[in-house]
Amino acid sequence: MDCLFCKIAAGEVQAFKVYEDESNFAFLDIMPRAPGHALVVPKAHAPTLLELSDEYLAKLSLAVKKVTALLQERLSPEGFTIGINHGEVSGQEVAHIHVHILPRMKGDGGHSIQSVVSQTPNPATDGIETIYHKIIQ
Ligand code: AMP
Ligand code: ZN
Repeated sequence: MDCLFCKIAAGEVQAFKVYEDESNFAFLDIMPRAPGHALVVPKAHAPTLLELSDEYLAKLSLAVKKVTALLQERLSPEGFTIGINHGEVSGQEVAHIHVHILPRMKGDGGHSIQSVVSQTPNPATDGIETIYHKIIQ
């Protein structure tokens, strides 16, 4: 399969690996947005959460915690932003699910996860109650 992260998992493409277990690995992002910006990646190929098995997902979340703890211990950031670009529209470029761990410092110029979308929903058609009833029918 022509997947960059499967190739990194197989050792065919080099990366600065900072963590590995039987189901996941983590490496430094080649274009870091912060010192220590890391990606945690399951060894099984799945484009998004929806295709990833529950077993791999459970282990992925544990790996995210371990890598976050490692970065906290070694780099002492003041916080983190941890997230997934889920689908092309959200900015996902590599179609193999991965969790970004971004160490954060005051004054780093970054924002909160909520700020990645700026369109204000139309209250008449997209009010919270309308959306709620679409979800919970
Ligand atoms: P996303 O937009 O969520 O799919 O993020 C993909 C990330 O992978 C980007 O932040 C890239 O900088 C990073 N990336 C792409 N190629 C490599 C590579 N060979 N080694 C490490 N990180 C990479
Ligand atoms: Zn893959």
